Amino acid sequence: MASERGIRNNGAPTTPRTPGAPAATDARPQVRPTTEGWQQKLGPDGRPVLQFAEPKRGKPPVHLADLTPEQRTARVIELGLPGFRAKQLSTHYFTHCTTDPARMTDLPAAQRDELVAGLLPPLLTEVRRLRTDNGDTIKFLWKLHDGALVESVLMRYPGRITLCVSSQAGCGMNCPFCATGQAGLTRNMSTAEIIDQVVQANAAIAAGELGGKKRGETTPERVSNIVFMGMGEPLANYNRVMDAVRTMVAPQPHGLGMSARHITVSTVGLVPAIEKLAAEKVPVTFALSLHAPDDELRDELIPVNSRWKVDEALDAARAYFDATGRRVSIEYALIKDMNDHAWRADLLAQKLIARGRGWVHVNPIPLNPTPGSIWTSSEPAVMREFVRRLEAAGIPTTLRDTRGKEIDGACGQLAAADGA
Ligand code: SAH
Repeated sequence: MASERGIRNNGAPTTPRTPGAPAATDARPQVRPTTEGWQQKLGPDGRPVLQFAEPKRGKPPVHLADLTPEQRTARVIELGLPGFRAKQLSTHYFTHCTTDPARMTDLPAAQRDELVAGLLPPLLTEVRRLRTDNGDTIKFLWKLHDGALVESVLMRYPGRITLCVSSQAGCGMNCPFCATGQAGLTRNMSTAEIIDQVVQANAAIAAGELGGKKRGETTPERVSNIVFMGMGEPLANYNRVMDAVRTMVAPQPHGLGMSARHITVSTVGLVPAIEKLAAEKVPVTFALSLHAPDDELRDELIPVNSRWKVDEALDAARAYFDATGRRVSIEYALIKDMNDHAWRADLLAQKLIARGRGWVHVNPIPLNPTPGSIWTSSEPAVMREFVRRLEAAGIPTTLRDTRGKEIDGACGQLAAADGA
């Protein structure tokens, strides 16, 4: 149905009114999700395919950032070198963001090449770098060892530098409004491939490549915030993502020395994995990509809703708050005439309040268009009304700005096309 248009529902018999939708309060049409310009992969049951297991592919070479500090020392000893070199090498990688033997002057010249070859193999090869927002946003396109492509987006904001990282090459979640899902899942990224995005971004910042630096600013700048909102479903690559998070928060020189609360893990709603995340003692910020408060629409918008329903995902989000004390974010891409109706704002507020107060905030974001005419952002007045209703119900709500649209670097636009 690649070319089928969104079906307008003005009470037409083919598209019955969503249960829970008040009869005549919202005169706007109901556009139903459907793909345009590409074909969503469907299974034998006619439902969008969900890929949890990755296709078999060669693994990337083992890297320092894949290993615990003890394993790093063991590896250095295996290479026939003194174990304490591991810590020096970690300092070069995590703190100085370098893998260049020539810069490792505290290491004996004869051992440098061997250490680098054994523990710091190149993982991400830069294909292209695109800039926008006066240089305050950079999108990196990386090639992995097997040719798979991934992207990360670096953004300067007042008081923080955020990196949007990828956790998988491609994505198996098949959401019809997201460019990444269109090609399916290529493979999971390794822990070190995830970490290397941050190290390379830090290297770019240190080299003065990110715009907007304050004049006279002398303290070295680094990525302060990470959002797992690049390519992939982080909770479908759970172990490697969690190992990467642990290395992000490990103090230097063993890791990046970042704060867990500045790391956001965003998910379509894999409930068992959310429960597992809640049980970890790493209080990351948790974001749930909800996009619809009613199963009727969410079943079509977020294929994984066939496994875990809106209420189950919200219960898991609330339990995350209970376990960590961290306020949860609900992501909601506002899509014209599809999920932006006033009654949906009310239903969302009602479902959140039913689970208590003070545990959640909502981040609506104007949809970034992917190819196809039904996939457009809501009108500004509709967005304002959506936000107003949530706020009137006492739900803290922040309309998120969207960065990097001009370079296809915004949410849902990361397709990692070589020719793009
Ligand atoms: N798989 C994870 C993380 C990647 S997407 C998740 O779904 O949460 C990061 C965010 O961008 C998610 O909230 C996702 O729903 C949203 N997104 C995807 N496509 C988008 C689009 N076209 N416009 C705006 N946001 C989009």
